[in-house]
Amino acid sequence: MMGSGNGNITIGYVWGIPIQINPSLFLILALLTWTLAGGLLPAAYPEMSDLGRWLTALLTALLFFASILFHELAHAWVARRNSIPVVSVTLYIFGGIAQLGGKAKTPGAEFRIAAVGPASSIFLAAVFYGINQGFGDRGYLGASSEWLAFINLILAFFNLLPGYPLDGGRILESIVWGFTRKQETGVKVAGTAGQIIAYGLMAIGAFRAFQGDIIGGIWMIMIGFILHNAATTEKKAFLQQGQLAGTQVSQVMGIVREPEVPAGLTLQLLVEQHILGRGQGSFIVTAAGNPVGILNLRDVSQVPRTDWDQMTTGDVMTPLTDLPRVGPNDELLTAVQLMDANQLLQLPVFDGSRLAGLLTRDEVIHHLRLRSEAGV
Ligand SMILES: [Zn+2]
Repeated sequence: MMGSGNGNITIGYVWGIPIQINPSLFLILALLTWTLAGGLLPAAYPEMSDLGRWLTALLTALLFFASILFHELAHAWVARRNSIPVVSVTLYIFGGIAQLGGKAKTPGAEFRIAAVGPASSIFLAAVFYGINQGFGDRGYLGASSEWLAFINLILAFFNLLPGYPLDGGRILESIVWGFTRKQETGVKVAGTAGQIIAYGLMAIGAFRAFQGDIIGGIWMIMIGFILHNAATTEKKAFLQQGQLAGTQVSQVMGIVREPEVPAGLTLQLLVEQHILGRGQGSFIVTAAGNPVGILNLRDVSQVPRTDWDQMTTGDVMTPLTDLPRVGPNDELLTAVQLMDANQLLQLPVFDGSRLAGLLTRDEVIHHLRLRSEAGV
């Protein structure tokens, strides 16, 4: 439900897709293990040893995360079968996300990619229920398998709520898209439904908190907030993509080429002469007159002030060789997707082998604002 941010740890690869975990997961793993070892297991098996209790709790918590991974990999598998590349699979505090490198081209593909998630969770619930029935309480597997069956069922039904960013929202989008033949209508309906569901969760959370269930209530309000943000962002991003379509990089890139600064210039002088003196924010760094890298205010602000007289523009620039490049006639949408994927504020634009200038995020935002004010 969130984008792939910084700080995630890659723990392995499946089908060449990096599997990442967010560091917050360790905290949740510890909390969940502690809760299971302190509540579920002693209630079911009062005679269980401490070591057995903790190990079973840890195993159960790990199987819970494996269940979420299974759910996300099911999305990834069907996405790949529908020729949509999968960038990464990330596990977060509230579940997982399979980051896709494109959108489904047909409502049918969108439906299949979304629906397989809840289906896989229902499948897992059935497997754990089977284990529970087959093995019973032998080896203390009973309580854990019952809990895992139950939690996977909850996951399936929660994800089926028909609003963004949940799977049910994507299913709703695909159905509306299929009937109206307009994806935009599907996105708007699923986005609004997601916002309504989020408000519903917050209202129920507030009600529960007033009833005395403070922790449970606050959790629901928090989940509501996160869902509301995600639903709003997703709706906006889609509508923005529509606005970007058909526009070329050259139509948005500034006419004035960014100022050049030599690679040996200290940051102190850069700040004094260019940033404070002329209000410039983006630079092309040159060596022997040739462009070698780019630099912006963010790069400078990340260096402690005390180092500004020793560090040079060459030390903090991003080398051109490390950056993806676009041409003036490329689609603006492609350029923005490259910026998003690499978390860049600017992108070098090459006209053949010549650096024509930089496309900055500010220019893209400015362009979108002008278009929305002009109503086109
Ligand atoms: Zn899902």
